[in-house]
Amino acid sequence: MAKADYDAIVVGAGFTGLYMLYKLRELGLSARVIEAGSDVGGTWYWNRYPGARCDIESMEYSYSFSPELEQEWEWTERYASQPEILHYLRHVAERFDLRRDIAFDTRVTAACWDEGAALWAVEMDRGERLAAHYCIMGTGCLSSPNRPDISGLGDFAGETYLTGLWPHEGVDFAGKRVAVIGTGSSGIQSIPVIAREADHVTVFQRTANFTVPAHNRPLASEEQAAIKAGYRELRALERHSPGGVGSGPPQSLEPILATPPDELREDLERRWEIGGLGGFLNTHPDTILSAEAADRVAEFLRAKIRETVSDPDVAELLCPASHPMGSKRLCVDTGFHATFNRENVELVDLNATPIERIAPEGVQTSEKLYPADIIVLATGFDAMTGTLARIDIRGKGGAALKDKWAEGPRSYLGLMCAGFPNLFTVTGPGSPSVISNMVVSIEQHVEWIAGLLAELRRCGAATVEPLAEAEDAWGEHVSAVAAPTIFMQADSWYVGANIPGKPRVFMPYIGGVGTYRAICKDVAAKNYAGFAVDGQTIPPPADFTVYLGMTRETEAA
Ligand SMILES: Cc1cc2nc3c(=O)[nH]c(=O)nc-3n(C[C@H](O)[C@H](O)[C@H](O)COP(=O)(O)OP(=O)(O)OC[C@H]3O[C@@H](n4cnc5c(N)ncnc54)[C@H](O)[C@@H]3O)c2cc1C
Repeated sequence: MAKADYDAIVVGAGFTGLYMLYKLRELGLSARVIEAGSDVGGTWYWNRYPGARCDIESMEYSYSFSPELEQEWEWTERYASQPEILHYLRHVAERFDLRRDIAFDTRVTAACWDEGAALWAVEMDRGERLAAHYCIMGTGCLSSPNRPDISGLGDFAGETYLTGLWPHEGVDFAGKRVAVIGTGSSGIQSIPVIAREADHVTVFQRTANFTVPAHNRPLASEEQAAIKAGYRELRALERHSPGGVGSGPPQSLEPILATPPDELREDLERRWEIGGLGGFLNTHPDTILSAEAADRVAEFLRAKIRETVSDPDVAELLCPASHPMGSKRLCVDTGFHATFNRENVELVDLNATPIERIAPEGVQTSEKLYPADIIVLATGFDAMTGTLARIDIRGKGGAALKDKWAEGPRSYLGLMCAGFPNLFTVTGPGSPSVISNMVVSIEQHVEWIAGLLAELRRCGAATVEPLAEAEDAWGEHVSAVAAPTIFMQADSWYVGANIPGKPRVFMPYIGGVGTYRAICKDVAAKNYAGFAVDGQTIPPPADFTVYLGMTRETEAA
């Protein structure tokens, strides 16, 4: 009979993998982390494009599990740059001596459940095979860059780069003509920086996206010390908030449609001055539910674009009009729109003149050829499911996860899938994940999984698996919460619309980080309701909607 090499295999060494390893060690379990990259960092290892930085403030986009780490680490900016976040994650790996259990430069290609032995057999690209009781996917929601299928891309005579797979040695733009394809978050962050270095930049835009200013700045040590002094309360607020963020302007109580225009303008101006996502997502209770309500904020943001961009035609093209504000990832920018006032920057509207092909000399649209020396593909990711789909994951009876998810991902709590015992997906589809401060969501998942593993060990159980009825009930709840929102009105990567052929399903759970935490806590308190532990089943909670809007106080009561 097969024997376990480790108690757990963890795939990925980003925020998730590092903390999962730490927790497994704390439980006294043996673990091996397998990472495709050559170092820790995940997102922050791969996304080295110019201007890459977090869009949740650094003081909150960081681990909370170690108060000592929190106190000793000094962030230099309000929004840390990619090198600084990578430096932080390397520091975490050193500080907690994590590297010795991580295999780098190794990609997991398959994971197969051996029912007789109750083990996961994990295969790697270097031919190695390992068996473990638990397999924990810390593979990330945004870790498979989307290389668009544009005809002729392979024939381009210049250099081509994907923002999500940026070369470590950097790219020299000096004196170069650069074509940037894509104006999502990575494009919006990189275009202003590339434009300062390159000879000429042509930006190819399909969808204009909403952005709010970062107002990034150095973090003064007094400000940082003040936040650190109140860190426990801030972290508690994050955990029980809708989006995992504890600071920033609060939501107005009045619906936006009932707010007098002058008052609204004043409120939005105040939020604009503060900057950041927190102030603009959920400004009012109705903006997430009504496109008309969201449009009040949209009009304010469009007016800012028109004020900033001197050419009125270019300004109009940059004004988002295809989707309600907030229904696609809201971006945080530093000088994005003002960049279009530069002499060396030009905007091409792909709706009017689509790309026909990439020629050896540049980008050929239906109108003309735009010569280029470098093409930057800021074309996003096969989000949430793409990375898992690239691993041949097989559960009971050899069933493939890819097949189970052919019509869209199904899971219980975004954490586990029926038919796949002892397999965990951290920030999996069906959890708040990309709709939240992901470090908060990652910590919650890792701690919940660690709690479950401790319980399994305590009662000597070998397997845990969600019930099909729990998975169905959770799927219905995730869809029901999303259905009345503006999120369903956009062709976003949240619904897989950026990947041809991907089923259109809203993947994250939008009921809120606090609500979700309360549900997971309650499920655990009810002896893991909705799971089968060594075949013993406990039905799932009858109604997940009762948790909606639950606050810290009501949860405690
Ligand atoms: C440019 C960018 C900016 C972002 N900014 C923010 C932000 O401001 N706030 C926020 O909350 N979130 C942000 N995110 C989301 C970000 O992905 C998460 O915050 C977080 O870093 C995810 O950590 P993770 O460890 O779960 O996954 P990742 O960091 O994606 O790490 C997953 C790791 O798994 C590895 N892996 C995948 N498949 C395999 C395999 N088969 N075998 C071996 N290894 C594998 C990958 O190499 C990767 O290193 C951003 C994402 C991007 C791309």
